[in-house]
Amino acid sequence: MPTSDPVPERVLAVYAHPDDPEVSCAGTLARWARAGSEVHLVIVTRGEKGSSDPAADPDQVAEQRATEADAAATIMGLASHELLGYPDGEMTNSIELRAQLVERIRRIRPDVVMGPDPTAVFFGSSYVNHHDHREMGFALLDSCAPASASPLYFPEAGPAHQVASIYLSGTLEPDTWVEITETLEVKVAALLCHRSQLGADLDLAADVVRRRAASAGASGGVAYAEAYRVLRLT
Ligand SMILES: [Zn+2]
Repeated sequence: MPTSDPVPERVLAVYAHPDDPEVSCAGTLARWARAGSEVHLVIVTRGEKGSSDPAADPDQVAEQRATEADAAATIMGLASHELLGYPDGEMTNSIELRAQLVERIRRIRPDVVMGPDPTAVFFGSSYVNHHDHREMGFALLDSCAPASASPLYFPEAGPAHQVASIYLSGTLEPDTWVEITETLEVKVAALLCHRSQLGADLDLAADVVRRRAASAGASGGVAYAEAYRVLRLT
C-alpha cells in the first residue's frame, strides 16, 4: 500500500497560479499544518489572465485573486504565503525565478517541497497541461536539485540546503497517496475562496473536489486522498 512520509517539520509549496495549490494539494497542506508542520506557500504569477471576460481589467483580476489567495491561506492554516508577481501565462524557467526560489528554500529549509509535475503534458485526450505549470515544475526541480543544495549556485542566497523530498502533484505517474479524509472539507472551503475561477454553481465545484479526492483515495486505498509522484533526494 502506498504511504506518505511522516509529518514533515517544514514544507514549501510552490505553484504558478493562485488556485493551483487548492486544486493540487490543499488537503495535504492542511493536514500537515494541523499536525504541526510549518507550511509555506509561494505563488509565482499574479493570475491576471484568469478571466473569460474580454472586458476584464487584468489588474483588478490580479487584485481579486490575491484577496482570494489570502482567504484560502488562512483556511489551510499556512505559516506564510507570498505572490511573486510574475505575469500570468508568461512563466519561464528563468535564472531570476530560480534565484528567488533558491533563496526561499535556503531560508525556510523545508524537508518537503511540493509543486507541479512538469513532465505531465496531456491529461487524457482532451486537456493540455498549462504552460506555466510545466515551466513552474522545471524551475522548482532545478532549484532543488542541484541549486539549493550546492553552495556555489546563488552564493548570495544563503547557506546550502538539501531538500529531502519533492512531492509532485498533477502527475501521470503517482506513487504516493496522502489521505485527506479529515481535511477534505478544508480543501473544499479553500477552493471555494477562488470565486473568480468558479462558475455560479459552487455546490457543483465542491462535488468535483470530493469526487476527485474519492477517486485518488480509491487508488491509494483510503476514503479521500491527494496523489503525488515523490522524489527522495536524501
Ligand atoms: Zn494553474
